[in-house]
Amino acid sequence: MDVDLLVVPGGNCIKDIKVCPECDHGNGSYRALGEKLNIELIGKITPTPIRMNVSGCGCRCAMAMLQDIGLVAGLEGYAIYIGGTPYSKSIIAEKIIGPLTDEEVFIAIKAILCLYKSERGD
Ligand code: SF4
Repeated sequence: MDVDLLVVPGGNCIKDIKVCPECDHGNGSYRALGEKLNIELIGKITPTPIRMNVSGCGCRCAMAMLQDIGLVAGLEGYAIYIGGTPYSKSIIAEKIIGPLTDEEVFIAIKAILCLYKSERGD
């Protein structure tokens, strides 16, 4: 069995994007989407460290509700949540948009990151 190990980049950037394992409950191509997000976004410089997760269904085992940006796959597409945190005081993220297609997810994530950067003034 081949196992890939990913070294999470340090500093203010997008960290590894955690994705649910292969699961019968998962909707759509959530694993492929998570892989594409990792390839495209990991290590990108951001004002603060950004953590993202992709959950394959509403059970949210990948803790999408406790990340800076969380995606939850549903029958109609992906919902995006922002503002959660797993550290110190846990906060549940709020849904801001969805359902989205795979392509729309990329557009939305880039817009969120762009807005975050400009609002921070960094
Ligand atoms: S969130 Fe859904 S798809 Fe992901 S591991 Fe849990 S049950 Fe499976």
